[in-house]
Amino acid sequence: MASASGSFCGVCEAQDVVKEAAFWCPECNEGICTSCEKHHRSSRGTKHHEITSMNDYKQLPPIIASINQYCPEHDKKYQLYCSQHEQLCCPLCITTNHKKCDLLAIDEIVKTSRNSALFEIMEQNLKEMKNNIDRIVEDRRQNLEIIKQQRQGFQTDIKEMRAKINIHLDKLEQEIQQDLQAAEQKVMSQINRFVQKVSDHEKTIDELQNNIAATKRFATDLQTFFGGKMFEAKIQEEEKFMTSLIEDSGYNKYTYNVN
Ligand SMILES: [Zn+2]
Ligand SMILES: [Zn+2]
Ligand SMILES: [Zn+2]
Ligand SMILES: [Zn+2]
Repeated sequence: MASASGSFCGVCEAQDVVKEAAFWCPECNEGICTSCEKHHRSSRGTKHHEITSMNDYKQLPPIIASINQYCPEHDKKYQLYCSQHEQLCCPLCITTNHKKCDLLAIDEIVKTSRNSALFEIMEQNLKEMKNNIDRIVEDRRQNLEIIKQQRQGFQTDIKEMRAKINIHLDKLEQEIQQDLQAAEQKVMSQINRFVQKVSDHEKTIDELQNNIAATKRFATDLQTFFGGKMFEAKIQEEEKFMTSLIEDSGYNKYTYNVN
């Protein structure tokens, strides 16, 4: 039994010759070079061994390639399978660890396993799992698409709402400005009327001042006496007017009533 290094011919290695293996014999659990292959095929002990090309052997997953036909503990070929321990057994294993176990001949199990539907079922299961994964991923992708569309919908709504609010605010602003202008206009005409009225009286007062000054300088005593009475009466009228101005609401300051 050579070590299963795999890359070199086991037979040559045993004779200290290093030669690359071109074939693999699972029965011998070793590589075979092209020169040794002929002998391996014709020799009585090995001619029934099913060898495979090294390329095919290397395609095997390592976990499968590591399953060999020899018990590593006793270096004997496996012959039986213990279903209780789920273990392959060589004749020595049986006498030590599986004395009371139900054992099946490996040749029989192996024959049925290649023909059983197990691999088809496993492949089918894996295919279904992948389909499920595809479906789940597609479902999430669609979910995301819906979320995206909803977000865009909300953004459009917000923009429309914003535009409506802007229009409404523009209208409000316009109305308030019109109201303000109208109010100012109203106050302006009231104040103009008031100022006009007051300046009329101012003229009267100017006249009285001039007349009194002239009377003082140029009038006779009699004229001064009667004129004084007349002026007094007129001044009283003007005083009444001034009092009415102060009491009148027209004298109050105008302000805006902004709510
Ligand atoms: Zn060789
Ligand atoms: Zn062999
Ligand atoms: Zn064993
Ligand atoms: Zn057992």
